[in-house]
Amino acid sequence: MKERKVCVIGAGLSGISHALDKQANGNNVTVFEKNAEVGGVLQSKNIEGFLLDYGANTLSLRLRKTEEFLKHYEVFEHLVDADKECSKRFIIRGSKVISLPKSPLSFLTSSFLSPLGKLRLCMEPFISRKKDFEKDENMADFVKRRLGNEVLDYAANPFIGGIYASSPETLILKHAFPSLFKMEQKYGSIFLALIRGGTNRLEKLPKTRLVSFKKGMQELPIRLASKLKNPVFLSCKIKKIEKKSEGQWLVFFEDSRGKKKENYFDEIICTIPSHNLGLIEWKDIRRPELLREVAQADHPPLALTFLGFERKQIEHALDGFGFLVPEVEKRKILGTLFSSTLFPNRSPRDHVLLTSFVGGERNPELSKLPKNELIALAFSENQVLLNIRGTPIFEHHKIWPKSIPLPDKSTERRILAAKTLREENQGLNILGAHINGAPLPNCMVPNDPSLFD
Ligand SMILES: Cc1cc2nc3c(=O)[nH]c(=O)nc-3n(C[C@H](O)[C@H](O)[C@H](O)COP(=O)(O)OP(=O)(O)OC[C@H]3O[C@@H](n4cnc5c(N)ncnc54)[C@H](O)[C@@H]3O)c2cc1C
Repeated sequence: MKERKVCVIGAGLSGISHALDKQANGNNVTVFEKNAEVGGVLQSKNIEGFLLDYGANTLSLRLRKTEEFLKHYEVFEHLVDADKECSKRFIIRGSKVISLPKSPLSFLTSSFLSPLGKLRLCMEPFISRKKDFEKDENMADFVKRRLGNEVLDYAANPFIGGIYASSPETLILKHAFPSLFKMEQKYGSIFLALIRGGTNRLEKLPKTRLVSFKKGMQELPIRLASKLKNPVFLSCKIKKIEKKSEGQWLVFFEDSRGKKKENYFDEIICTIPSHNLGLIEWKDIRRPELLREVAQADHPPLALTFLGFERKQIEHALDGFGFLVPEVEKRKILGTLFSSTLFPNRSPRDHVLLTSFVGGERNPELSKLPKNELIALAFSENQVLLNIRGTPIFEHHKIWPKSIPLPDKSTERRILAAKTLREENQGLNILGAHINGAPLPNCMVPNDPSLFD
């Protein structure tokens, strides 16, 4: 059989993973990346001895298929586990840093919820199953209905702020947390489902691991890219894609020296962020209006601040993952990771690194503050909450005007539009975090194989 030529656009985690998959199936794969490095939003920088992750900080290794993928491409042995202390997470309540219960049962014994909140939580197994599973439900309605308002305010709200920089009102349960959706569908109760080991017991590893890499999360796409037979074309921007006939594509790009070039391919796998789709000129494709539909994923703006201190400047033990801030607490940050507790090598000896998140859907305007105001804001919030003396000895920031694609009410339409585009245009695959889901495991091994041949 003739070797098929596949063009992958974008060398983020999605692009590289799909490229490896296509290569494994005997195709000749070329990956184009507009940046000078692979990784997309996974960018790790070592500045003055502080190791900063601009994108994802942790990979949650929960599923067997993710582990198999990492083993197959010899990345598994390079994983670094989060410190044991990081099973402890904190929440802000009444301006205090409170330790979050570690298990559903300990919710009842800890001071995290009021007696009324605990009582409401205990009613969960007795609340009847949702009647109409076809109708989309947002996270806020789901949590209110099954677990009560206090869990919504002090658990779901900060958690979703921390993962998606979003709010429970925006996210659709089925897309954002499919396992919770399935738990209610199958068992009629989250507690009962948890007692019975969840819905996809066989797919899960016996124990979830939170991992990263010695040199930060960018090591993941770098190591995977080293397994590609053809090196990634870096600093190469795709400008135009023309459909010549069914399964025949002419791709126009500008190389690293600004030279305009073109090449024929049998298949296109486009993994660029949805908001970049409109920057490419698409010629002669069928149903072009669907591209505009796919391009509509919402990405809240988000700023990250990185503050370095001498260890002795901070009174708090920093003995955990970090803290999250519920919206009802009316503070100006979404949360802070204790980065130097999480993984080794994140700060020089006897120093610590705090990574804070500002903006998101909750306070989009704050993410646009000038650097000095952003740093001052993050510092003052951490100062009071963690009892910090003096000023940071290291300050840095990163702004994502469009951060994480949200699994919101437009998700179903966008996925359907991408599927229809593929059916109408042989060899055209629009994929990436906005279609497969933003968490890193989804970018490596998509949950829904029907999205991809
Ligand atoms: C701040 C932040 C924190 C996060 N934290 C976590 C976390 O802790 N855990 C977790 O699981 N997930 C996390 N995520 C989500 C996860 O990191 C992303 O969903 C995932 O990395 C996206 O990968 P991708 O390949 O789909 O997209 P991207 O990484 O966006 O890659 C797309 C690539 O396409 C390239 N491109 C665009 N246009 C063109 C063009 N015309 N020609 C050529 N190339 C082009 C871009 O330069 C980019 O490299 C986080 C995301 C952000 C932003």
